[in-house]
Amino acid sequence: MRLDPCYFCSTKIFPGHGIQFVRNDSKIFKFCRSKCHRAFKKKKNPRKVSWTLAYRKTNGKELTVDPSFEFEKKRNIPVKYDREFWMKSLEAIRKIDIIRSRRANHFVMQRLRRAREIEMQQEVREVQRDMSLVRLPVAGLRARLAAKERESQVEEIHDSDEEMEVTNAEEMEVPNAEESDIEEEMNESDEAPELVEVL
Ligand SMILES: [Zn+2]
Repeated sequence: MRLDPCYFCSTKIFPGHGIQFVRNDSKIFKFCRSKCHRAFKKKKNPRKVSWTLAYRKTNGKELTVDPSFEFEKKRNIPVKYDREFWMKSLEAIRKIDIIRSRRANHFVMQRLRRAREIEMQQEVREVQRDMSLVRLPVAGLRARLAAKERESQVEEIHDSDEEMEVTNAEEMEVPNAEESDIEEEMNESDEAPELVEVL
């Protein structure tokens, strides 16, 4: 029993099914159903129609490169009938079918896993980008307020230090007007109080 593939969608055509079209250059096109025949008559490209095997293979959705495909090649060499050879071939076909289906399933699973990884990366990127929408506006408010208070306290301390420096400078006895000017300038810098004490 010969099972030819559909010209358009590449599924098997069982005997008594489908339709056959012979072009005037005697090339035979077999179709599994009227859907495929109609698509062919509309001159659709099977590689651009998403439900065909040709599309799936061109878009990397099916296993295409595998040594198991070598067995199915058409060979135009006449073979003399040999019962033993015939039986061996049938057994080999069965084994190869199992191996190929296993490899195809593995390929699909790998593809799906890769797709899941990419999806996860995209989701993480999206969340990181729109973090302001995810986070509550109140979240971390207490910590922020505490930090602000601490900053203001530090500023107050700095201000009081400066006032103290100014009072110290005023208390000092000033012999000359020129020297007092110099001292005032020095008070502005951090090392000023020590220098004043030395003088
Ligand atoms: Zn078909």
